Order: sequence, then C-alpha cells, then structure tokens
Amino acid sequence: MKNPVDDRLDALRGSAKRLDYNARSLAALENNPRCTLRALLDASGSDKAAIATHVGHPPSFGQSSFAITRGNAFEAMVKDNGCAELLRVLRETLELTLPEVGYEDLNDVGGDGRSKQRHERTEEVLLRAARGEGDATLFDHPMLRLLIGGHKVYLEPDLVALRIDGRFHVVEIKSFPIIDDQADSTQVRAATTQACAYIIALRDLLGRASIGEEAVSDTIVLVAPKDFTNRPTGAFVDARKQVAALTRQLSRIERIGDLVDLLPEDLTFDLDPTPDKNKQPRRPAEELTEALDQVLVTYRPDCLNHCEMAFYCRSRARAEASLDVLGPAVREQFGGIDTTTMVMGLARGELTPSEDQVEIAAALRHAARLRAELEDLGGAA
Ligand code: SF4
Repeated sequence: MKNPVDDRLDALRGSAKRLDYNARSLAALENNPRCTLRALLDASGSDKAAIATHVGHPPSFGQSSFAITRGNAFEAMVKDNGCAELLRVLRETLELTLPEVGYEDLNDVGGDGRSKQRHERTEEVLLRAARGEGDATLFDHPMLRLLIGGHKVYLEPDLVALRIDGRFHVVEIKSFPIIDDQADSTQVRAATTQACAYIIALRDLLGRASIGEEAVSDTIVLVAPKDFTNRPTGAFVDARKQVAALTRQLSRIERIGDLVDLLPEDLTFDLDPTPDKNKQPRRPAEELTEALDQVLVTYRPDCLNHCEMAFYCRSRARAEASLDVLGPAVREQFGGIDTTTMVMGLARGELTPSEDQVEIAAALRHAARLRAELEDLGGAA
C-alpha cells in the first residue's frame, strides 16, 4: 500500500514513467551525499537527463560507444575459457590459493534473461555456495537485488568469486589501465563506489538467510589491463569506508520523507510529456527551472563526472556567485564566506569583515595587493 511520501514523490515526478536506481545512481549518491536535489530526483524516479535537457543544460558525460565496446571486449577476454585469464590473475598476480574452481553462468536462466528469473537463480546458487554446497566458486553476472525506498533495484556485478580467503569477493573488470601498479584514482573510485552497492546487496541476500555480513569481503578485486598491453592484471581495493558511506546514504533514502516535508506543496519536476511515443515535454522550460531553483543543491566540480544535472547546477552556482564552482578544497579555505562577490568585496576592502572573517580578509587584501603589484610590473615591462 502506498504511503503519503510515495504519493508526494510520484507528484514530484509527474506523469513520466518511474526510473529506478541502478548501481551508477547509487554510486553518485555517495559522491555528493549532501545534495537535496539529487536525493529527491532519484527517490522520485525522475528522469534527470530529460529534465536537464529541457532546462537547457543537457548532460554530456558517459562512456563513448568506443569505450563501451573496448570494455566489453576486455571483459569477454578475461572470462574466456571458463575465466582462464581471471584465474591466472588471481593466482599469479594476487597470489591467491584457489584449489578448486567451478564456474556458474548467471547471464540467463535457460535462455531467459529477465531480471526476476535471474535474481531467483542467483539467490539459489549463492546461498547454496555460502552453505558449502555445490562446487561453484565463480559466479558470472549474478543478478542481485536491493529494496530501496520500497522499490526493487536490480544490480549486476561483473563477477562474484567465492573462496578467496573463504569469503565472497566482488570482482570488477575495467578497461582503464593499471600502469606501474597505479591506476587513475577517479576511475578507481568510480569502480569501487559502484562495487560497494554490490557488496551491500550481497550482504543483504545472505543476511536474509541469517548468514553474517563477514561472509562478504569489503575488499574488491579490480581486474584491468596491465600497462599499455591488453593483458589483465589485478589489485585489491579496500572499500570499507565507501561501503559505510553508501550504507548511510541508503538509510537517508529511507528518511526521504524528512526532505519531502520541507518542499512547497505544489512543487513538481513534471515535464508534462505528450502522450504519444515521442514523449515531448510540454511544460515551459522557465517554469521547470523555477521549480528546480527552489531545491537546495551542493554543486562541486566533480558533479560533472557523475550527475546528469551538473551543467544546470554549475550554471546556477555561477549565477549565485557561489564558491561551490571552485570545489570543496577552495570552499573550505574560505570557511564562512559563501560567494565570490563577498571574496572580492573583502579583497578590495569594500566590505567590513565579521569577527571570524578578519584573518581571511587580511589574507585576501594581501593577495590583492600582490596581484596589483605584479600587474604593475607586467605593465611597466
Ligand atoms: S549536479 Fe547538482 S543535483 Fe547533481 S549531485 Fe551535483 S549538485 Fe546535486
């Protein structure tokens, strides 16, 4: 039965079809945990890309089709011949002892690729394995499930391996390179955050069968190309902190009613799409922008990597002269000052600093003097 919060979330989304969370949208929650707009758009199942596009700020992130094809080809190669390359990486590179190996393909159930059927089969084989029955140790594309805000969310890791250290491990196969044992930290973080959702879902599955969460490791096995070759290598990534942070975010979703209660009663992100298959938005863009503007955002530059609303939020932060556009590190330095207008006012001595701004105001005036002197020197040269 629906509760008033669900009704309110449905009204926020309007007449569009509900979009459910996925591993990527869950990972994005962990990236910007304080953002109210993102929390509301996701919880209401609103189409962020369509909304951002309609207000004139279409998203432009996401993998190119070339990168997707390369990623799929690399994953297929790692899993070829019963995961022969993966086993080599686990045994040789990561020095794991894997005496017996049994492979279970969960990409479909007898040709049926529907999520529900795959989830039921996944649950059956993983629980059997956790109880020490059967001989499967590598589970290819298991279909996990979490209940988030009362909605079923299906999640599909690349692979889950059992009996590494006697525990289940999530294996993420990525096509970005590990060069001299180092990989791009942003890409590793993105892969890890996504894998955290799988860890939580796996623990949930086992927990329902009274199997403790320690059965699932919070260390992720990352498999990626070595140096500039196509040969896979591996690394362990400690995801403890991110698992804890995402767990906190998931409990925040369960309390979404607290955020909804603060909204104006008639607020909606409805696009009012045409009833035909084109689903053209009929709502005036200015009206939708006004609705979005009423909700708190906490823009930061890395939103550009993970949120469809990023260009809208950046433009809003710029219009508000917010220091958010410069990122959390700069913001922290200017603790207590919110806007670039205020920074400039203090630097030029046009604003009187409050007691706790005296120190930063002096530093700003000093920086402004140095800049002016440099400009003078440049002009004289
Ligand atoms: S882009 Fe905007 S809506 Fe998305 S997380 Fe960042 S601040 Fe929130």
